[in-house]
Parts: sequence; structure tokens; C-alpha cells
Amino acid sequence: MNPSKSPFRSEPYKRILLKLSGEALLGDLEYGVDPKVVAFVAEQVRSVRDLGVDVGIVVGGGNIFRGMTAAAATGMDRATADYIGMLATAMNGLALQDGLERGGVPTRVMTAIDMNEIAEPFIRRRAVRHIEKGRVVIFVCGTGNPYFTTDTAAALRAVEIGAEIVLDRKSTR
Ligand code: UDP
Repeated sequence: MNPSKSPFRSEPYKRILLKLSGEALLGDLEYGVDPKVVAFVAEQVRSVRDLGVDVGIVVGGGNIFRGMTAAAATGMDRATADYIGMLATAMNGLALQDGLERGGVPTRVMTAIDMNEIAEPFIRRRAVRHIEKGRVVIFVCGTGNPYFTTDTAAALRAVEIGAEIVLDRKSTR
């Protein structure tokens, strides 16, 4: 087996994609984003960055809204519900950006759905450039398409930015 492919290798990965589900941001709360969790994530990401590891983050929205659940429970049009879910990920991404920057980690938020006043549009080459400059890029609004989830977005962005591994954080409880 090629040692560089072993999950137990001792040298750090050069570039990782962290998938943070909305639930992972809940912490002790029933709804929303727990500032304690954001501070914890910021500290962890900073220590990983200090090892020289490039970091991209895809953030979920299930702590606020899940399209499929809402559509099933209320009869809401599924695509509309999914767009609301994607907007939820943008809110989480901005909260995460705030926490990371207060923890001393430079960041950019890139979105799959244009919202120019608050986040950059996702442009793959620009995302890679940010990462090369040492910024943590937070990818929001998933793939930009209804009927998908942020897990798909995590896999997609990981390949697009050349991450070696996807680390999936489902919950911090
Ligand atoms: N979503 C979507 N397309 C995507 C990513 C997300 O429509 O590419 C919507 C979908 O409704 C989903 C919601 O956004 O339920 C929140 O994302 P997800 O459920 O993946 O969040 P997580 O479970 O990771 O918190």
C-alpha cells in the first residue's frame, strides 16, 4: 500500500475540506448557532492552519431549515423549500466567518447563489487562490441546486479545490 494514501499517515494533509453540518453548530441550543461551538471550531481550524494545512469549509443548514422535511410536513413546494434551506447555510456561514475571524483566522465566504452584498460568488479558480493565500474559504448555499444536500456540495467542492480528504462533522453534542 502506498504510505501516502494511508489514513494513518503521520504527515498532515496539505488541503482538507471540513463539512460542518448545521446540527454541529447547534451546541446546547435547540435552534440557531451556539457561539461556544463557533469559538471551538475557530480554535481547531486555527491550529490546523498553523500546521500549514489549507482548509475549506462547507457548512450545512439543518439547524435552521431542511427542505425535504419542510416540504413533507407542510406541503411546501420542494424546490422553494430547498432554496430556503440553502439560505440557511448562508446564515450559518456568516456566523462561522465572524467566529473564525475573531479567532484570528482570515476567511472568505463564497456562495453558490449570488448575494453580492454579503458574499463572493463561487468561482473555482478564485477559491483556490484564496486558499493558497492562507484564507479559509467557507462555501455556502450548497451546490446552488434544489434536490441536493450540503454533503454533495462538500464532495464537489473538495474535488474542485483539490482537497485530499473530506472531514465530516455531524454533531458536537
Ligand atoms: N440544499 C439544497 N441544495 C444543496 C444543498 C442544500 O437544496 O446543494 C438545501 C436542502 O433543503 C437541505 C438544506 O439546504 O436540506 C440544508 O442543507 P443540509 O440538509 O445538507 O444541511 P446539514 O444536514 O448539513 O445541516
